[in-house]
Amino acid sequence: MKKLLATLLAIALISTTFTACGNTNNATDNTDTPVVEEKLEGSLISKDKKTFSIFLNFNNMPFDSNWPIWQEVGKRTNIYLEGIIPKSSSDEKQAFTNMLNSGDLADIIGFVDPAALEELGRDGGLIPLNDLIDKYAPNIKRVLDENPKVKRYATSLDGNIYQIPKAIKTKVTEMWWIRQDWLDKLNLKAPTNVDELYNVLTAFKNDDPNGNGKKDEIPLFDRAGHKMLDEYLCLWDTSTNFYVRDGKVIFEPLEKNFKIGVTNMAKWYKEGLIDPEIFTRGPKSRDVLLGGNLGGMTHDWQSASSYNVTLAKDIPGFKMQGIAPIADQNGVVKERTESSPVVGWGISSSCKDPVTVIKFMDYFFTEEGANLMNWGIEGDTYTVNEKGEKVFTDKVLNSGKSVISYLRSIGCQYRIGMDHDPLFETASATDSAREVMQMYTDHSEWYLENMPPYVDGKLTLKYLPENEKEYNKLMSNIEPYVDECFQKWILGISDFEKDYPSFIQNLKDRGIDRAIEINQEAYDIYLGNK
Ligand code: CA
Repeated sequence: MKKLLATLLAIALISTTFTACGNTNNATDNTDTPVVEEKLEGSLISKDKKTFSIFLNFNNMPFDSNWPIWQEVGKRTNIYLEGIIPKSSSDEKQAFTNMLNSGDLADIIGFVDPAALEELGRDGGLIPLNDLIDKYAPNIKRVLDENPKVKRYATSLDGNIYQIPKAIKTKVTEMWWIRQDWLDKLNLKAPTNVDELYNVLTAFKNDDPNGNGKKDEIPLFDRAGHKMLDEYLCLWDTSTNFYVRDGKVIFEPLEKNFKIGVTNMAKWYKEGLIDPEIFTRGPKSRDVLLGGNLGGMTHDWQSASSYNVTLAKDIPGFKMQGIAPIADQNGVVKERTESSPVVGWGISSSCKDPVTVIKFMDYFFTEEGANLMNWGIEGDTYTVNEKGEKVFTDKVLNSGKSVISYLRSIGCQYRIGMDHDPLFETASATDSAREVMQMYTDHSEWYLENMPPYVDGKLTLKYLPENEKEYNKLMSNIEPYVDECFQKWILGISDFEKDYPSFIQNLKDRGIDRAIEINQEAYDIYLGNK
């Protein structure tokens, strides 16, 4: 694949088969006279209308130039984007591979995996943006300079910036949510540590809090269980992946806590405390289990509290309450999930007018551009109250969708490089979620320091180009093996105690020590120690 890509790029570079960038109507582009920067009105980026092609597909939503916000962006900047992914194409990875194989790169490219974008950059498919940012993008430059975490996220280990991220600077993402009405009914207090949690979940299982006379409750569930097999191992401060402790990268399955965690999780699963379909139920788990008055507790985003509104009629008294993270077996309270910058977009080597594009990208880091992408259009989707705070209009609040879903349906909060407004998170939350988010925000000690982004249950580090291939190869042999073993142990298909020694030997044979070494090097670079 990589080799093929390199070849394709090499051919493309000499044969101009890449699509042309920008249907520019600007006649002065072809003259030899030096361009004198002209002061343009308002937020215009170009005097004439320009259109650029874009490859981006976020949450199965290929970029759609008809979205009202992007029409508004076009009106204000004179820059329009044309998505190249058909609306029927829901597989982002396949579409990306297809584009690379075709050799026809869009002018602007965004993709879910920042490592793949950096690789495309190193192979010549994306251009380094460092100089363009210095010269033409003062707002991007300011945000990168003010936020080392964002800058680190944007910068490849070869020193180049190939993609402008969505600059998220808040910490809180997922929180613990429990059925407060069930606790009240059974006269229980919210659990504070893993032993209390076991007792509460057992009561949820056995004491019929939904009151239908059946033992049908599913005490602990998760809509991300299908992609994060080990979501609940963090209750025992462990996981099936890498982690950092005291400056050292460890692979948690080799550590003591893993034995404690897997043994307990298998026991909980066997006793029916964990959703029997946790590995397979998928993203709809929350809708199904809360809507059916069956689910008791989960670890999820602030949107978990929205069911208090949507289910109020169907399930009288229904209340999902956010609680502090559960202390582990050693009494330590930590929240592993933490928000981090999100991958954004870059400029491809076939773009003929990168200067205009970087100026356009800079727009989303200005107050006006960031407001459009975070909040929508003033007077339509939000207003500013007498205290100067932005509030969403009834059109957004009463749309029948969640705030974020509504905004995404008009093109806001898309996965582009932009300055994220933390106030958006609180404004879009319900009152009860807002309090919980504030509680998590106020307890910065619950979060770890010097942690690389922790996404979907694993650390994400950047690897040196010379290590990357070796690392990916090692992990392609290790990760599926660990997931498979873990699943077998939890489901009770195989005996953990009995398997563990050979499991460790297998990991060694598959090169886990070298993988740890590569991660340590990557982490040292992350910390700036190398
Ligand atoms: Ca029941």
